Amino acid sequence: MGGLRQYTIPFMGLNEGRHYFEFVANDSFFEQFDSSEVKRGLVKVGVELIKHSTFLELHFEINGRVTVICDRCLEPFTMGIVHEAVLYIRFGETTEEQSEELLILSDKSSEVRLEQYIYEYIHLALPYQRIHPEIDGHTGCNSEMMKKLEDHTAQEESKSTDPRWDKLKGLID
Ligand SMILES: [Zn+2]
Repeated sequence: MGGLRQYTIPFMGLNEGRHYFEFVANDSFFEQFDSSEVKRGLVKVGVELIKHSTFLELHFEINGRVTVICDRCLEPFTMGIVHEAVLYIRFGETTEEQSEELLILSDKSSEVRLEQYIYEYIHLALPYQRIHPEIDGHTGCNSEMMKKLEDHTAQEESKSTDPRWDKLKGLID
C-alpha cells in the first residue's frame, strides 16, 4: 500500500494543542482496497488533531461524493456522504487497535497512518441500502437493467442464495 503513504500524520514534532490536516480520498485511494464497496470517489477528510501531553485526540470530518453500486439495478451511481468520527491515540509497548475509538501506538512511533480509518469511516457513512435517488418522483434506476434482472430472477428463483450475486452471475453469463 505504498500509494497510501500520504495519509499519515507525523505527530512527533508537533506542539501540544490543535493542529489541522486535510486529506483527499480519490479514485486511486479506493483502488488500493480490494474489497472497497466504493469504486470511485472524491472525499475530503479534515482531521483536527489535539495533542495532549500523554495522548492524541483526532476529530475526523468526512465530506464528499462516492460512486457505489445500486442494490436494485446493479448500475453505479454517485451519492453524497457526510460522517464524523473521533479517534483517541494512547501509547504503549506495542501497537494495538483497542476499539473503534481507541488506538494504542507503540511509544516508539512518531507518526500515525490513517488510511484504514479513512477507508472505514467512508464505508460507515454509506447507507445500509443503496438505491438510485428518485428523479421527479420516478425511480432513477436503469430500467433496461431492471427488466433484465426481473426476467432473470423469475427464472432463477428456486436456486437463489444471495440474490445480488445470482443477478450478477446471470448478467456475466
Ligand atoms: Zn438503481
